[in-house]
Amino acid sequence: MNYSVGTRSSMRSFFGQRGPGRAVHTNAGPGPDYRPLTRRILLGAGITTTLVSVPMGPVAAEGSEATSPSVVIDIEHRQGEVRFSDEEWRQRLSPEQYRVLRREATERRWTSPLNDEKRPGVFKCAGCGSPLFNMSAKYESGTGWPSFYAPLPGAVTEVPDNSLMFMPRTEVRCRRCQGHLGHVFDDGPAPTGLRYCMNGAALQFNPSPGAAETNGSA
Ligand SMILES: [Zn+2]
Repeated sequence: MNYSVGTRSSMRSFFGQRGPGRAVHTNAGPGPDYRPLTRRILLGAGITTTLVSVPMGPVAAEGSEATSPSVVIDIEHRQGEVRFSDEEWRQRLSPEQYRVLRREATERRWTSPLNDEKRPGVFKCAGCGSPLFNMSAKYESGTGWPSFYAPLPGAVTEVPDNSLMFMPRTEVRCRRCQGHLGHVFDDGPAPTGLRYCMNGAALQFNPSPGAAETNGSA
């Protein structure tokens, strides 16, 4: 890879040819080549690039009718492979889902019923249904928001968020629809050390077949 941080052209070049970084998490997961901290370096300068070509991974393609080898993501306009007009999103989502997914709102802590969800299963995007997190990666962070130490491979896009002065953060979006999910921080547990702090309103939980009808509190 010949990418270097700091210039738009190099960032575009980096994204355009599927680099080894964390930007699209095509290889995310606690595997031997998992190097989460490189994300900060690669994305820390802030991205003004608008078009990102993202290869379709085998997991990301699940449930997708797309057959093209890559899709174009418009980060600036929050448009992914699944795209609707703003008005269409308003109609498809609940007001709370719309505020979070399409307007980057943050739900009030301790308000999501998914905080207490413990059954085996998968958390999907409330906007497009794309699988995002497995229950096995969920943990109790004590923050009041559903928290995970890793997303499913290729499920999310991570984008610099400088909306809070003095507190640069990394926004986490659903890769397929670019809906806002939350943020990722470096204070998570093993094996990744990452905390994916998610809005429950941006997620829908699908329990595994055979999981108990009601959520156990064990
Ligand atoms: Zn989505």
